[in-house]
Amino acid sequence: MESAGKATKFVFVTGGVSSSLGKGLTASSLGRLLKSRGLKVTMCKLDPYLNVDPGTMNPGEHGEVFVTDDGGETDLDLGHYERFIDESLSKMSNTTTGSIYSNVIAKERRGDYLGKTVQVIPHITDEIKERIRRLGGLGADVVIVEIGGTVGDIEIVPFIESIRQYRRDAGRDNVCYVHLTLVPYLAPSGEHKTKPTQHSVTELRSRGIQPDVIVCRSDQPISDPLKRKISLLCDVPIEAVISAVDAPSIYEIPLNLHEEGLDAIVLRTLGLDREERALDLSAWQDVVRRVHGTTHTLRVGVVGKYVTMPDAYLSVNEAIRHAGYAVGATTVVEWLEAERVPSEIDAERLRRLDAIIVPGGFGERGFEGMIAAARIARENEIPYLGICLGMQVMVVEFARHRLGLADAHSTEISLTTSAPVIALMAEQMDIGDLGGTMRLGAYPAMLEEGSQIATLYGATVVSERHRHRYEFNSRFREQFEAEGLRCSGTSPDGRLVEFVELPEHPYFVGTQAHPEFKSRPDRPHPLFLGLIQAALARAEGREPHILNPASVDLSL
Ligand code: GLN
Repeated sequence: MESAGKATKFVFVTGGVSSSLGKGLTASSLGRLLKSRGLKVTMCKLDPYLNVDPGTMNPGEHGEVFVTDDGGETDLDLGHYERFIDESLSKMSNTTTGSIYSNVIAKERRGDYLGKTVQVIPHITDEIKERIRRLGGLGADVVIVEIGGTVGDIEIVPFIESIRQYRRDAGRDNVCYVHLTLVPYLAPSGEHKTKPTQHSVTELRSRGIQPDVIVCRSDQPISDPLKRKISLLCDVPIEAVISAVDAPSIYEIPLNLHEEGLDAIVLRTLGLDREERALDLSAWQDVVRRVHGTTHTLRVGVVGKYVTMPDAYLSVNEAIRHAGYAVGATTVVEWLEAERVPSEIDAERLRRLDAIIVPGGFGERGFEGMIAAARIARENEIPYLGICLGMQVMVVEFARHRLGLADAHSTEISLTTSAPVIALMAEQMDIGDLGGTMRLGAYPAMLEEGSQIATLYGATVVSERHRHRYEFNSRFREQFEAEGLRCSGTSPDGRLVEFVELPEHPYFVGTQAHPEFKSRPDRPHPLFLGLIQAALARAEGREPHILNPASVDLSL
């Protein structure tokens, strides 16, 4: 163990009473506050489900798959972590029961346990603790660990047991347990009720954990008498009962929790309050001021397959907002079911929008609707951003309606097309199918000087995260360029087209990557900013004046 003063500290965030209370946002907000106090923070999520990672989970049920620089397919809470603490996390920051078990079973098969009976305690719990310890070894001052699920779930037990043991392993002062509960308001009796919180804390205690801090979610602030009651019944100091009211914007949560003293009590529990730690929240306060200081409203259509579950496009949604804040616009997202778009009603709806995004996706369903949306955007000069599948869609649309390749398609959907403008690398090079390997994680790209995209980025070498199998088919590149679609960014070897744009259009831009993962509330992503700037210019009836984020004044 390191010397007492320098030991890594761990904060474990659990949830009780109900799911979807915003544990991820609470943990992220705490991360932001600790970072704003000058501490180096990292975060991780322990998910009790059996999937090895969320890569194969249906986004319509589970929400988006967030991709890290090192190619991890992770829970969407990692997106909140990155947006709030502004650190790039690795795949080590997401662990599931499935990945724990598959490791333990692989070790058992290799004989690593020397013939011992392999059990949940200690083998599974040791594996969980090892994952936490490894994160602690990355040089952070504080590791915030969010436990997915709710105390009382069957699947959560090994995780709770592991974090209980962790305090003994790491030392009392190096661990803080934060428990998030719901304090419902019962209208007929006109009261907030603390009983669910008491039960939830009892459940946690029955597993050997006494929380240090209780964060109470409610629709209205928790009064002092109520805090006293929770303090008395759950045995925490009154300053450790934190009221977390519903906030109009998620970016206000760190400020609210700071007002309530969350960072102060966590620092005290961890013995980090002995040194002066000035808090600088000014950049974050600027963001919140921008959220409220908008002067325009822009309507952005997102045409996708999982639009009834907006969490499936969580990072896209946030990236749109960030760009809106930067230009003083409130962005209203209209979710359009891609399958229905070819209908005249939806086409008319699209024509009235300020901007259109076709986000990432897989498979055939809705593809023709996305093509229709891209065509409407191109022909009506509506700013358009195509993300991954959305770029493939704009390429197919352009091939069909401008290159006259009526049969153009992606081989993901048609293997018999005579114009496979989007295809697997192997198909493009005629070397047979190399299998379904995905291009995952961060890849560099070179941008053509003078292109709209290079101007937006303010750079000619950029790195973006990927998650796809199919690529622009370079065999057709000359044909596209001759007709005006510019391939303005490629892989460093020039073989893969990473970015396209249509110079004759105010903003018709596509990227094979997922730029949404790198947008931050105080640092909007250049491609989203470009889209929103073009939308604003169009709404105001002027030429777009494209600025890269570095030249937008984000202070107020
Ligand atoms: N389905 C497409 C591919 O695999 C696009 C993937 C995506 O949009 N993430 O290439």
